[in-house]
Amino acid sequence: MDTRSTCPYCGVGCGVVIESDGARITGVRGDPEHPANFGRLCSKGATLHLTAAPEITRQARLLQPMQRLQRDADPVPLAWDGALNLAADRIAGVVQAHGADAVGVYVSGQLLTEDYFVFNKLVRGLLGSNQIDSNSRLCMSSAVAGYKATLGADAPPACYDDLAHANTVFIAGSNTAWAHPIMMRRLEDAKRANPAQKWIVADPRRTETAAVADLHLPLLPGTDVALFHGLLHLLLWEGLTDAAFIAAHTTGFDALRDRVREFTPKHVAALCGLPEADVVQAARWFGANTPTLSLYCQGLNQSSHGTDKNAALINLHLATGQIGKPGAAPFSLTGQPNAMGGREVGAMANLLPGHRSLASDADRAELAALWGVPPVPAAPGRTAVEMFEAAADGAVKLLWIACTNPAQSLPDQAMVRRALARAEFVIVQEAFADTATARRADLLLPAATWGEKEGTVTNSERRISRVRAAVPPAGEARPDWQIARDVGRRLEARLDPRRADGASLFAFESAEQVWHEHRATTVGRDLDIGGLNWAMLDAAPRQWPLPAGAADGLARLYGDGRFPTPDGRARFAAPAWQDVAQPRDARFPVALTTGRLRDQWHGMSRTGLLGRLNDHAPAPALAMHPQELDRRGWRAGDLVRVRSRHGEAVLPVQPSATVRPAQASVPMHWGEEFVGGQTADGRPLTGVNALASPARCPQSKQPELKHVAVRVEPA
Ligand code: SF4
Repeated sequence: MDTRSTCPYCGVGCGVVIESDGARITGVRGDPEHPANFGRLCSKGATLHLTAAPEITRQARLLQPMQRLQRDADPVPLAWDGALNLAADRIAGVVQAHGADAVGVYVSGQLLTEDYFVFNKLVRGLLGSNQIDSNSRLCMSSAVAGYKATLGADAPPACYDDLAHANTVFIAGSNTAWAHPIMMRRLEDAKRANPAQKWIVADPRRTETAAVADLHLPLLPGTDVALFHGLLHLLLWEGLTDAAFIAAHTTGFDALRDRVREFTPKHVAALCGLPEADVVQAARWFGANTPTLSLYCQGLNQSSHGTDKNAALINLHLATGQIGKPGAAPFSLTGQPNAMGGREVGAMANLLPGHRSLASDADRAELAALWGVPPVPAAPGRTAVEMFEAAADGAVKLLWIACTNPAQSLPDQAMVRRALARAEFVIVQEAFADTATARRADLLLPAATWGEKEGTVTNSERRISRVRAAVPPAGEARPDWQIARDVGRRLEARLDPRRADGASLFAFESAEQVWHEHRATTVGRDLDIGGLNWAMLDAAPRQWPLPAGAADGLARLYGDGRFPTPDGRARFAAPAWQDVAQPRDARFPVALTTGRLRDQWHGMSRTGLLGRLNDHAPAPALAMHPQELDRRGWRAGDLVRVRSRHGEAVLPVQPSATVRPAQASVPMHWGEEFVGGQTADGRPLTGVNALASPARCPQSKQPELKHVAVRVEPA
């Protein structure tokens, strides 16, 4: 039996066909009709069925609700009704004793749009707080803030077809070949069809993507804004800007022109550590070998100046008029499979459903009217790291964590462990039983996962795809939206008993019903899908916007030169260049950056279960330039202790010319459950993010996971 669905890993959003006998998943293949991948799958997508094998399910899945009666005790099973009542009792107790702001709900870009929607309605509609955030904060929040600051809306303007139309592809802070492999296949197709297409890659590391580029700019970590300002300086100097577009469709260019005046090629080459001629070449291709498409990801986003980096790159497109045309746009690559859907339903501390803004009284009133609840407060909730810091400080008393593993993925792991220890109650809703966060939970709620649940996701090009169940959930697992609904109904009985069943905020019996309510929140907004219905989505994935009366979604945005700002013009930003939050110094002389491996996904709770995927890189290693090893007398495989101001990790070192001297790189995937548990001298090891700094972008609040200063010593 074949069931069409979507890959649950990255934001490319490939279509899959799940093969099953109705009870067990037996295979997977790419969906030849899905416009994201046309039948192709990468190594992760092609092995999805193996992660649903019975032995993996028995070994790794959370199969029934469990309660930990003491923090250091083994959890014991309990029935669903008791688990849901316990969750509701503890949440209601905290709300009544300390107020709704003492409950922190931390969700995930892995959730489906419908899951996200119900969680958000529970926090905003029922609890009346804004204390919900998503692990998308670690992934895309700088892209969101960059789009909104310049183009006026959180909307990637391009589509995948633009890869084939571009003559120059500028890839900044993205190892597309490993992080978005099917997108890379499409780029390779484009280059085969158009050998004149130029690829420029700006990345401190010589990644697999950089290695096949026409021009690699190995800029020093954190110097992206300086590079982008330098490119604009050159575009102006060489007459490659579009004065007519700037005059007709933008504001703020004079301030930006003043800002970039000092970013001469010589200055930029020195700041960024690049040959001057390469900066000049990049500017000429960007401005003259058009159309130009920029692809960018975590190298820009995971930065203490992530919003500035995004805005400075978008400036280049506005200044050259390279937007709104086939092959021309700034195009953020979404990290997680449904970071877009989470933003659409507003399940982040500073957002509201339908791309509404907390800062707008009208938007808050509109949402209140849609749901029949009082308006939420205007003050944003705590963002991801802030939520855990507040728990560590005692202000957040209860954490409800769904489909994510903050005890591995957040920066400043020592703080996260304090937060999980100090919280009065920790609820973890998970598909997998033994994540680092699950080990610290008081209550474990088993969630259905890929192949077992219904709903929708939105990929990088704004395309909404159906996710479908091929088999029933394993054990007693339930879909995330149903768990949130059932806790919500119980909370209504405890906190708002006037809501009889008929007036419940959670009168949903299917994912389709949740989606219909989500759709209603989009009408009249930039992401309007009022013209889309479930039957259309069942037939084929669709891009937003697709308002009532439209025959199909819009492939690319801003073709008419109008932007969703009050005056219809895009806004140039003129940020100053600022260095990384922790520059190298005498005590911490090495710049450490992190990145993805080809065959692993995030914290490896799924991909780490398969030997076939582990074979690519069975253990984490610290990559350092061969000169650094020679100078210290180290050999490949020697254990080294990597210390930052926040923590330490012991890792084998590997020589690699992909990084410069005084730099190092480590894969992001490993936490305590995969690296062993203690250092050679018996101290606990908390994974690679033990090293990461909590420094974050002041606008997006996205942490600087891409850079921290470290020192490296013999272990
Ligand atoms: Fe899945 Fe991304 Fe690979 Fe496509 S490219 S198969 S969405 S992991």
